[in-house]
Amino acid sequence: MDEASLYEHILGISKPWFVEHIELIKDTVHVYVCCDNNLKLSCPACGKQCSRYDAKPRTWRHLDTCQFQTIVHCDVPRTDCPEHGALQIDVPWAQKKGRFTLMFENLVIDWLKELSINAVARRFNLSWNAVDRIMRDAVERGLRLRKEPDIKHLSVDEVSRKKGHRYVTVISNQQGQVINVQSGKDKDGLIRFYQGLTQTQLAAIETISMDMSPAYIHATLEQIPDAKKKICFDKFHVIQDLNKAVDGVRKTEMTNIAIDHRKSLHLSKYIWMRNEKNLTETHQQIKSQLSKVAIKTARAWAILQYAKTLWGYSYAKSAEKAWMKWYSWATKSRLTPMKTAAKSIKEKLWGIINAIVKNRTNAMAESINAKLKIIKVRAKGFRSETRYKTAIMFYLGGLTLKH
Ligand SMILES: [Zn+2]
Repeated sequence: MDEASLYEHILGISKPWFVEHIELIKDTVHVYVCCDNNLKLSCPACGKQCSRYDAKPRTWRHLDTCQFQTIVHCDVPRTDCPEHGALQIDVPWAQKKGRFTLMFENLVIDWLKELSINAVARRFNLSWNAVDRIMRDAVERGLRLRKEPDIKHLSVDEVSRKKGHRYVTVISNQQGQVINVQSGKDKDGLIRFYQGLTQTQLAAIETISMDMSPAYIHATLEQIPDAKKKICFDKFHVIQDLNKAVDGVRKTEMTNIAIDHRKSLHLSKYIWMRNEKNLTETHQQIKSQLSKVAIKTARAWAILQYAKTLWGYSYAKSAEKAWMKWYSWATKSRLTPMKTAAKSIKEKLWGIINAIVKNRTNAMAESINAKLKIIKVRAKGFRSETRYKTAIMFYLGGLTLKH
């Protein structure tokens, strides 16, 4: 095999394209590709057969040849369409207007899955913008080619981009695939997502798991038919609210407790938030000693533990009965933060009961959250919201990214 044929093979090209010659200048391999002069051209816009107008020289970076950077050169013919004028024909090894071959872009995409844009840029001696561009194009292409995703069971969750309350709303499905990302964590973002769906898609949604924030609730009630039967409040978030209430009780009690115990109650914050079975022996000892003196905190904690047992029901009626028993205990506890939390839960009990009987949690969304934390650390944060959204879809959109 001569070297021209070898490079035709490497580039994956065949007639009417062929490699005319190859040059090694300094540390770069230059591959000169030509197009058969007799090729019948058709206009890229309308497909009509046209005569050749001229040819414009272009270059593309390709995968390195051993240790040498490799550049493909070609004078790409332009058609002379009476309707569309002079247009450059497509080449099989690169995208329209692309500066890299498809194979090169695929390699960059593979590396982007493992490394930050900065690291990939250094690895390939590219500018940050060039790598960012490849990433954005890959996401756009992936979204264009995406088959209709499964949206039967959705999760809606807020995710912070930066400290200082910069949020986006992430909508994902039960398979852990991010379907859409919207700016902010207000009602409008989620409404925009729902409005982008067809009537058939909206009707196909069976459950939407979320926290108890009014923004998401109202957006869903407004846009989704029968939403009150479909909204499921996530256990994790309900427990989180109750954890905060227990902590509120602990803080108040700290000011009333004997000074000897104050420090240890102060340090015990996270002990009360953990599941009993996850406590170390030392923590269990601390908790049982504190329970004798910090009686209110211990009572609040017991109310929380009881709530945690109320998710195993199959029937709405029995779940409701159990929760109302809990509510009655919590409201009679004479612990203000617990009473407030219980009242808020009672107002939204319909959505908690939905989650229980339909067995829905935001667990997948929480795992997406955990993955996003790693992505944020790797990228050392995101300069803009657009970039953050692109990264979320790149890593978690389940898209086909490569050519
Ligand atoms: Zn045309």
